[in-house]
Amino acid sequence: MEPANRKFDVVVIGGGPGGYVAAIRCAQLGLSTACIEGWLNESGKPALGGTCLNVGCIPSKALLDSSHHYSFIRHEAAEHGINAPGATVDVNRMLARKNRIVQGFTQGVAGLLRKNKVEWLQGFGKLLPDRQVEVTPVAQESTQPYTVAAAHIIIATGSVPARIPPAPVDNELIVDSTGALAFTDVPRRLGIIGAGVIGLELGSVWNRLGSKVVVLEALTEFLPTADRQIAGEAEKILRNQGLDIRLGAKVTGTASNNREVTVNLESPEGKQQLAVDRLIVAVGRRPNTARLGAADVGLKLDESGFVDVDDNCRTNLPGVFAIGDVVRGPMLAHKASEEGIAVAERIAGRHGHMNYGNIPWVIYTWPEIAWAGRTEQELKAAGVEYRAGAFPFAASGRAKAMGETGGQVKILSDSNTDRILGVHILGPNASELIAEAVLAMEFEGSAEDIALTIHAHPTLAEAMHEAALGVDHRSLHI
Ligand code: FAD
Ligand code: NAD
Repeated sequence: MEPANRKFDVVVIGGGPGGYVAAIRCAQLGLSTACIEGWLNESGKPALGGTCLNVGCIPSKALLDSSHHYSFIRHEAAEHGINAPGATVDVNRMLARKNRIVQGFTQGVAGLLRKNKVEWLQGFGKLLPDRQVEVTPVAQESTQPYTVAAAHIIIATGSVPARIPPAPVDNELIVDSTGALAFTDVPRRLGIIGAGVIGLELGSVWNRLGSKVVVLEALTEFLPTADRQIAGEAEKILRNQGLDIRLGAKVTGTASNNREVTVNLESPEGKQQLAVDRLIVAVGRRPNTARLGAADVGLKLDESGFVDVDDNCRTNLPGVFAIGDVVRGPMLAHKASEEGIAVAERIAGRHGHMNYGNIPWVIYTWPEIAWAGRTEQELKAAGVEYRAGAFPFAASGRAKAMGETGGQVKILSDSNTDRILGVHILGPNASELIAEAVLAMEFEGSAEDIALTIHAHPTLAEAMHEAALGVDHRSLHI
């Protein structure tokens, strides 16, 4: 039966990690569910997975891993007694690998929707009154819009790269994160505007592959949302790797011919010009409500353009929820997915659990930066009395064996109750190590709980154990 004029229990608008996960959970809970998604991939084929799978988390991590291997061969292999002189990079092969991984996952999501009997409506959805949605099909014979109705709607339309007037993206020399995942050669000189997550991750990729990378950051503080001590140590390590990070640099204009981009900037040293072969604009992302028709149905947006929601992701329209990057909170795939699951549970009349105070952050530089909970500066500002325990990877047997001794684990716990308030890691595989901290915090655990937990030897996780012992001044190996 054609989807037109049909009614579903739930219609999800957007098939990223927020939307497709919400749709699967709704279907698992017995709700008839459709997911509207109009993303077209490079071959013009409809694709699920949103920003995360197509042009975000997965392709960036594929390139981070490939470039990490190359960097290891060039700079560290010899130390291990491995001689690999003359290693070269085949960028097109690297990109082809990345694209295969992306394609595998996006097709996999289509399979998951089929398995769970979620109908994928290939097109863009626009809200109509009374929980109806107009779908404009993409890549199909008929692009004639049709209407579906729903008892509940979940908006999961995500976000798009933010733009700044002095550096208009031309998708040739000046690109956003999507363009920066698809350079077909290694730019000799690469400029990046924004020393945030994307600037540091993609800056690391191209720096490792041989670009001379300059990162221009408007703020005078490096990674202000991270713990100060961890951010300071990370900044030093990244600078040593060759990232030329310039803080307090305001880009005032750009001029490009077909060979290079001239960037005009004002920095603490005065007015400057920088010539680069490519420029990446990575200054944040903004909510994507462009095709929703919010104003026509009276869907309330906040002053920054996010869909306005309460703590349970309810919008001002009855039966209409919103999740993920298009609403307040961190723009992270796991946050979007967990909100999707929580909303599905609520629609099915169950309890939807979402702990906004315990969302892990990871920056996939090397070493990686990961944290959960509150930073030392936040605790100080709030007047909370805390104790800190830290352990450097330089003293970890496993880290030493790996040759990965930069960074530390730091645990902050309440002075009175010992409850863990924050965990901050700079180090190898910090992205994996942080999971133990998140679990401990979810159970409202104490530093002593981690200290009493047996950690396998030799592992990087022992650094977590030692940091927990350190909270009580009884670290053993330092
Ligand atoms: P999106 O993934 O943006 O999906 C929204 C979907 O809605 C899109 O597919 C879009 O086509 C569709 N859509 C929009 N409007 C309509 C409409 N009207 N009708 C139908 N469909 C519509 N996060 C992490 O947690 N870890 C990482 O390592 C990480 N790396 C990243 C790297 C990069 C380069 C980028 C850009 C982002 C990264 N992120 C990462 C962020 C992550 O991608 C987002 O937080 C996540 O994708 C948000 O999920 P979402 O479902 O809310 O939105
Ligand atoms: P971001 O907010 O992390 O960093 C943007 C940086 O650009 C900030 O430091 C900001 O001060 C700076 N900036 C803004 N305007 C500027 C200007 N005019 N000149 C110079 N600097 C300027 O944003 P992002 O790096 O673009 O990433 C967007 C979002 O995507 C992130 O917030 C994150 O939620 C998500 N993301 C997550 C991951 C991950 O989880 N590992 C990876 C990539 C992206």
